[in-house]
Amino acid sequence: MLRLDHGIGHTFGHEFVGVVHEVGPSVQHLKVGDKVMVPSNIFCGTCYFCARGLYSNSHNVNPNATAVGSIYGYSHTTGGYDGGQAEFVRVPFADVGPSLIPDWMSEDDAALLTDAVATGYFGAQLGDIVEGDVVVVLGAGPVGLFAAKSAWLMGAGRVIVIDHLDYRLAKARDFAHAETYNFAEHDDIVVLLKRLTEGLGADAVIDAVGAEADGNLLQHVTSAKLKMQGGSPVALNWAIDAARKGGTVSVVGAYGPLFSAVKFGDALNKGLTLRMNQCPVKRQWPRLFEHVRNGYLNPSEIITHRIPLEHIAEGYHMFSAKLDDCIKPIIVNDAA
Ligand SMILES: [Zn+2]
Repeated sequence: MLRLDHGIGHTFGHEFVGVVHEVGPSVQHLKVGDKVMVPSNIFCGTCYFCARGLYSNSHNVNPNATAVGSIYGYSHTTGGYDGGQAEFVRVPFADVGPSLIPDWMSEDDAALLTDAVATGYFGAQLGDIVEGDVVVVLGAGPVGLFAAKSAWLMGAGRVIVIDHLDYRLAKARDFAHAETYNFAEHDDIVVLLKRLTEGLGADAVIDAVGAEADGNLLQHVTSAKLKMQGGSPVALNWAIDAARKGGTVSVVGAYGPLFSAVKFGDALNKGLTLRMNQCPVKRQWPRLFEHVRNGYLNPSEIITHRIPLEHIAEGYHMFSAKLDDCIKPIIVNDAA
């Protein structure tokens, strides 16, 4: 669970597509009936940061804007905006964020492009991948799967995915053509990764896990095995340890504003480059649209379940308990 301040009554959901039901008086580019995809970030399009493509760091959309931009349905820390897991959602700056779903694109692909695909691709971008690089992706959830797939598009020579759920690792092999290892089956995943890379470590390690793993198997397994202290972002410290000297650690996993015992001295002594941000989703769309249109990325292949909005509680249970080989459920509003 991400320990942020969601508050009672807050509606989740930062990946959504829909049909425009009503427009505000200053909206010029959208009309009622348009089918749109809405990027997970809310951004103004005109501030210092938006002018530089840093849409996830927009300065005009959140009282906490000096620290964080805004995301739909993602806590009051990120602006307190209600999200898309509902019949209706308010979309501010409607001329800036949303795009019409292209005729040739499925709604499923469009929904996944509003965060997971873009964030995975961004994770690979932040890895500064050059031709032939060994890339390790920690976490085989949707973002990790898209990061692994994107690493190949950027010229990686070898892509290794680490997780503890065999069905997710199977997906990483089938969908992203990655080499996979289950960390629960190895005493020390860092030692294994060093052994696999001639003792050097990986050129780039992408953390697609984050600290939300608080209380999940990752922390139970690793706290027992590695005696890591509470609050340690396990995946991030693995990333620092598994990167070669001079390598890059890319962080797109979810971290809240919590204390984190990061091995910063090791990162310094190894001369690592640490890169991270919330993904500026819409900035990725022009080339991601081409990758989808041309078949290099097939986002909807990772969808495992379609859950009616009225059964969303059961969907959350299935997702959080990782039941029924759940990787990516889509919530469908049949009433719409
Ligand atoms: Zn802005």
